[in-house]
Amino acid sequence: MAKKSANSAKTQDQEKEKQVIAEFEKHIYDLQQMLEISKSFCSTIEFSPLIESILYVAMAQMRVTGAGLFISEKFGGECFRLSENYSGIAIDPTVEYKIKIDSPLIEFLSTTPGVFELKDLSERFAGTPEIKVIESLNPSLIVPLMLKNHLNGILVMGERIFVENISSAYTSYERNEIQTIASLASVAMHNASLIDQSTTDMMTKLRLKFYFYNILEDRLDSAFSQDQTLSVIMFDIDFFKKFNDTYGHACGDYVLKKTAEIISESIREGDLASRYGGEEFTVMLCNAGREEAMLVAERIRKKIEQTEFFYEGHTMHVAISGGISVFSTENNPVRSAKILVDQADKALYISKRNGRNMVTVYEPSSECASKSDV
Ligand code: GH3
Ligand code: MG
Ligand code: MG
Repeated sequence: MAKKSANSAKTQDQEKEKQVIAEFEKHIYDLQQMLEISKSFCSTIEFSPLIESILYVAMAQMRVTGAGLFISEKFGGECFRLSENYSGIAIDPTVEYKIKIDSPLIEFLSTTPGVFELKDLSERFAGTPEIKVIESLNPSLIVPLMLKNHLNGILVMGERIFVENISSAYTSYERNEIQTIASLASVAMHNASLIDQSTTDMMTKLRLKFYFYNILEDRLDSAFSQDQTLSVIMFDIDFFKKFNDTYGHACGDYVLKKTAEIISESIREGDLASRYGGEEFTVMLCNAGREEAMLVAERIRKKIEQTEFFYEGHTMHVAISGGISVFSTENNPVRSAKILVDQADKALYISKRNGRNMVTVYEPSSECASKSDV
C-alpha cells in the first residue's frame, strides 16, 4: 500500500516536472519570437512597411482576424488618424477615423498603463465623439503604444479567431505579450518618424536628395536581380528665377510647394519623389520602362502647364522641363544610382536646350536623347 502511494506521488512529481519544463519551453520560444519581432521592427526604417509589419505581428500573435493602428499626423498634427494599412477590419465610410490629440480619451490612454477592452472605455467615455470612432471598429482589445510617457499610437485588435476549447478572452499572459509588442513597435515607430523628419524637406514635404539616392540604390539592386526596369525622371522648373525676381522669394516658395504637390499626387504609392535641389525634383518609378516613364512625366508636365498658380492676386503659369533615364539589364545595365540620375540630368539638359517645357529620354546607346512630342 505504502509502495503504491509512493509510486503515485512519484508519477505526480514527474507530471509536474513535465508541466514546468513545457512552460519553460514555451517561455523560451516566446522570448525568441520577441527577439525576432524586435529585429524585424528595428530593421524597417520606412514608415508604411513598418506599420504593416506591426499589424501583421499583432494579428498573428494574438490570433485576430484584423487590426488597425491610429498614428499621430505627421509633423505636429492635431489628431491621431487610422493608418491606411489597416487589415481585416470593417470600415464605415461615413466615419472619419480621427481622434483629437487633446481629447480626454487620449489623455486617459497616455496616462493609464495597460490594455483595454471596448466596454471599459465605452463606459468611461460614453457619448464622446472619440469613443464613437473606436466603437465603430468594434475592437476586441485596445492597446496604447507608449514610449516613455508619450503615446505614439493606438492599436485596435479585430475579432479573435475561434479555436475549439480555447476561450476567446485574452489571458493575462497574452495581455502582457501584446503590451511588449506594443512597446517594441512604439520604439521602432519613433525611430522611423525621426528618420522621416530628417530626410524630408519641410517646405515641399518631399524627401531630400540623399534619401532618394539611398532608396534608388536599393531598388536598382532589386531591379537588377529581378530583371525589371526602373526609371528616373528629373524635373527642373523653367525660368523659376523670374518668380522670385518679380513677386519675391515667398512667391518662389509657393511655386515650389505647389509644384511638389502636383508631382506627389501624380505618382503611385511605391514610387518616390524628392526635392533634389533648389527647383529641381527627381522621381523614381519602380518597374516602369520608357513608355510608362514618359507617360508619367508628360502627365506631370501637362498638369503643371495647365494649372493656374494664384499668388497674392496674381495668376501665374509655370512650366517644367524633364529628363528620363531607364535602367534595364538589356539596354542600360547601370549599377549606380548616381549614373542613372546623371543620365536623367543629361536628358533634362537637352529639354532645356531644345526650348524647355518638354521631356526627353536619355538614349544610352547613342549618348544622346530623344524628346517627347509636345
Ligand atoms: P532654367 O529654366 O534654366 O532652369 O532657369 P531658372 O531661372 O529656373 O534657373 P536658375 O538656376 O537660374 O535659378 C534657380 C533659382 O532658384 C535660383 C535660386 O535663387 C532659386 N531658389 C533655390 N532654392 C530656392 C528656394 O528654396 N526658394 C526660392 N524662392 N528660390 C529658390
Ligand atoms: Mg535648376
Ligand atoms: Mg530652373
